[in-house]
This record gives sequence, structure tokens and C-alpha cells, in this order.
Amino acid sequence: MRHDQAAGGLEIAVGTQAAGEVGTPQIRNVGTVGGNLNQRPRCWYFRNEEFPCLKKGGSRCFAVDGENQYHAIFGDGPCHIVHPSSLAVPSIALNARFRVAGPRGEREVAAGDYFLMPDRNLFGETVLEPNELLTHVIVPAPGAARNATYEVRFKQSHDWPIAFASVALQMQGGTVAEARVVLGAVAPIPWRSPAAEAVLKGQTMSDALAVKAAEAALADASPMSHNAYKVQVARTAVKRALLQAAAATA
Ligand SMILES: Cc1cc2nc3c(=O)[nH]c(=O)nc-3n(C[C@H](O)[C@H](O)[C@H](O)COP(=O)(O)OP(=O)(O)OC[C@H]3O[C@@H](n4cnc5c(N)ncnc54)[C@H](O)[C@@H]3O)c2cc1C
Ligand code: SF4
Repeated sequence: MRHDQAAGGLEIAVGTQAAGEVGTPQIRNVGTVGGNLNQRPRCWYFRNEEFPCLKKGGSRCFAVDGENQYHAIFGDGPCHIVHPSSLAVPSIALNARFRVAGPRGEREVAAGDYFLMPDRNLFGETVLEPNELLTHVIVPAPGAARNATYEVRFKQSHDWPIAFASVALQMQGGTVAEARVVLGAVAPIPWRSPAAEAVLKGQTMSDALAVKAAEAALADASPMSHNAYKVQVARTAVKRALLQAAAATA
């Protein structure tokens, strides 16, 4: 993942913390931001040709009664993938916009509207129409906002995260004026938490407030048979991202 350029002329300035964790240095050197944001799901049933699952036009989701330890804890299906992109999550926390080019010209889409749940696009994961490409990622200047991404992985080498969180805080002194809280690897799309944002707004940042916001972020989680452990992992990621962001220099 190069920060100065990428195939397709992408302008890049998103989440250096998240980008620095993607894959390995070799992968980051050849991977593109466009490829990262548009990468297909990691679900092992989806990737294995012997499983004709819903997302491939079949009649069932094999993860429901199967090996679902890395699958979604939000979203209620019918497909239970987690979105694989580490860059998608900070893009939404940072309120980025994506420029798309296709046969009918260019259009811009808010990062938060780019990724679609399976009930809106079962066979893809985004708003891209056939023959459209993502060409630019446009990130607003951060101003006084502080942000952080906190990821939890089984090992530090080349794993995708088990769960992670990206947050952006507009601070007025020690008080949170506005917050954007987005969770990753927990749902088919980056999962924004209005509940956590409401807990934070207008409050003085503290360990206790970060815990309360993290609890709100996971309150509606609905784990599958083998992934309840992800709820606490994600809760911890939210709390630590918030505390890191609040401590960051604006
Ligand atoms: C071992 C390993 C570990 C990894 N760990 C992580 C991780 O932790 N986090 C993470 O986020 N990623 C991870 N990745 C994914 C990696 O970072 C790349 O994003 C991914 O491999 C895609 O690479 P690429 O840029 O070559 O895209 P490609 O493989 O070329 O493309 C991927 C998909 O996106 C489509 N596409 C590519 N560019 C565009 C565009 N501009 N517009 C529209 N569609 C496009 C392609 O058609 C294809 O379907 C990992 C990969 C490996 C192999
Ligand atoms: S989670 Fe989605 S991709 Fe995986 S088996 Fe179920 S329908 Fe297929």
C-alpha cells in the first residue's frame, strides 16, 4: 500500500495506523488502495469452489451452521461476511469521499454510502455499477480532529484483524464535541455506531466514558454460534481507539 500513489491515480491520505497494519510489507508495496477497498470477502465458504453459497447464487449460507468464528456479529445476514478492508473503516471515520469513474462519467459517493449490506447487494459489496472503477479517495483536512485505529489480531504478522475500531473526535478542550465511531471485521460493511457517538457527544473524555461508549457500540451485537468472543474483542478495540485518539496531539 503506497501512500503517495496507487494504480488508478488514487489520492491517498487515509488512516496511516490502519494502512500500516495491512498484510505484510511485501503486500503493502504492491497492493493498491482501490484493490484494498474493493477486495472480495475472506469467507472460506465463498473462497472454496465446493460450497455454492448464497453469495455465489446458491440457496444457503454455510456459515450459519458451520465454521463461523471469523464471521459477522452484526447485520442479521442473509450473508454473514465481515468486510475485509482495513482502509474502509478509517475512511468512514474520517468522512472521506470516493470518486468513481465509469461509462457514464464520474460521481462521488460518501465512504459511508459506498459499502452495501447483503440485502442490497448480495453478489457484490459496494455501489459500483458494472465497468465502474474507484479512482480517488478524498479525505477532508483533519483540522483539530483527532483520530486513531486500534486493531486486534491473533498474531502480528499477516493476519486480517479479528476486530478493530477507527474513531475521529472533534475535541473542545477535554470535551468531545463530535465523534465518529466505526467498527471493522464485525459486519458485512464497516459498522458505524451512532449509539457510541451519542454517548460521547458533549462529555469529558475519560476511561469510564470510553468504556461506556464501547459498551454502547456492542450492545446490539448478535454473535453466531462460534464467534461470541468477538464481542469483547471489539469492545476493547473501541475503548482503546477512543483513548488513543483523545490522547493524540491535534
Ligand atoms: C496475506 C495477506 C494478508 C492481508 N491482510 C490484510 C489486512 O489485514 N487488511 C486488509 O485490508 N487487507 C489485507 N490484505 C489484502 C491486501 O491488502 C490487498 O488489498 C488485496 O490483496 C488486494 O490487492 P490489490 O491492490 O492487488 O487488488 P486486486 O487484487 O487487483 O483487486 C482486488 C479486487 O478489487 C477490484 N479492484 C481493484 N482496484 C479497483 C478499483 N480501483 N476500483 C474498483 N475495483 C477495483 C478488483 O477487480 C478485485 O476484485 C491481505 C492480503 C494478503 C495476501
Ligand atoms: S457468509 Fe456469505 S459468503 Fe460466506 S457462506 Fe455465507 S453467504 Fe456465502
